[in-house]
Amino acid sequence: MAKPVGFGDLPPPLQDYLDKVYQRADARIGAVIARHGLAPGLSGALAVERVAILADELAPVAELVAAGGAEIACRKGCAFCCSHTVDVTPDEVFAIADYLARQLDPDQLAAVKRRAAAADAVLHGLPPVERHAKRLFCPVLDPSTASCLAHPVRPNACQAYLSVDLARCEADFHEPPQPVEQPTVAPMIASVVDRTCSFALDDAGAPTLSLELIAALLAAWGEPDAEARWFAGEAIFAGARSFTS
Ligand code: SF4
Repeated sequence: MAKPVGFGDLPPPLQDYLDKVYQRADARIGAVIARHGLAPGLSGALAVERVAILADELAPVAELVAAGGAEIACRKGCAFCCSHTVDVTPDEVFAIADYLARQLDPDQLAAVKRRAAAADAVLHGLPPVERHAKRLFCPVLDPSTASCLAHPVRPNACQAYLSVDLARCEADFHEPPQPVEQPTVAPMIASVVDRTCSFALDDAGAPTLSLELIAALLAAWGEPDAEARWFAGEAIFAGARSFTS
């Protein structure tokens, strides 16, 4: 079996590049935490900055893809990848829950929660490959527009899932699993941004966890003052750990 590639196995110029991504991300994320403090609402503020950082850091990737004669195929209203399992951190869950509570009317929010409960009843505890094979969409997806209802604060994993071949995404949705061609460096950059956020939150006193998005949203909705309780160290996500953690 091939050995997993670690940071130290990468070519030195790529290590230097990713280290600079880390330094830029660390400065921006650290500024948000210093400004906001470990208080409810930090997750939402952090998510807005994280999405902006990743957009900035992925822009050169899209340019490289274009220079090679291809293009990023991802477009608003295309949701073939939104049936994959999404691993998230607690701050990403609170950011989505806060954003939906502010943006949706009570009926729309209740519909999202109903979709989440229905999806979780089918998918909970299954390995990601089996979950994907069920072809159930994420409850945060608007069924009428196939757009993400939490797009400005979407998880790092969703934002970094870039495809250069729409036909492969469609095939992966209808007959999973299928390989989807993606720019190799995009998940590396996303991983650096993700870890930078997690390290910064750890340092501030909010320990990170790897969670499955749907179960974690249900846990957050089910606990009053969930974000403050996470900051205080309560184990509110016990039933929502990611399959791979
Ligand atoms: S959070 Fe948004 S982008 Fe991510 S899977 Fe759900 S609907 Fe799709």
